[in-house]
Amino acid sequence: MKIDPQPPFEKYRVYKSFRQKEGRFYVTLVPSDGAHRIMSFARYVLSVRLGRELTADEEADHEDGNKLNDAADNLQPLTRLLNQRKSVLERGVSAEMVTLECPECGQPFQAEARNMRSRRKSGHNLFCSRSCSGKHSIKKRAFRPLRV
Ligand SMILES: [Zn+2]
Repeated sequence: MKIDPQPPFEKYRVYKSFRQKEGRFYVTLVPSDGAHRIMSFARYVLSVRLGRELTADEEADHEDGNKLNDAADNLQPLTRLLNQRKSVLERGVSAEMVTLECPECGQPFQAEARNMRSRRKSGHNLFCSRSCSGKHSIKKRAFRPLRV
């Protein structure tokens, strides 16, 4: 999806996309000449807020720990080392979260990793909402083949 470029990226065409593997949003920056660049959407938003690009040693940290919450006021610049320390601390006290794609509507959402492991074992899918879960089980019932 093309988005409006904001300073300091006004010289680029900017495309936003979701990357399933990393579980977060990214932007592709395409200059009028030369090679394109890819950075996390969080990094893009924080650079716009600060009015400058982050340095190689800075990372965009999500204050609430939710990697999908790329709101400008949820982001702060942290050096790589501090960010690593922070995530180690968070893992110790709060649940490990994973990003999944809802098998019914295809939207990314977050779930607790331990929750996911137990559901997988029992052969159930995880959904973004109760309504998606409901829709999915109705479909499954409708297409179940007849036992002979
Ligand atoms: Zn859904």
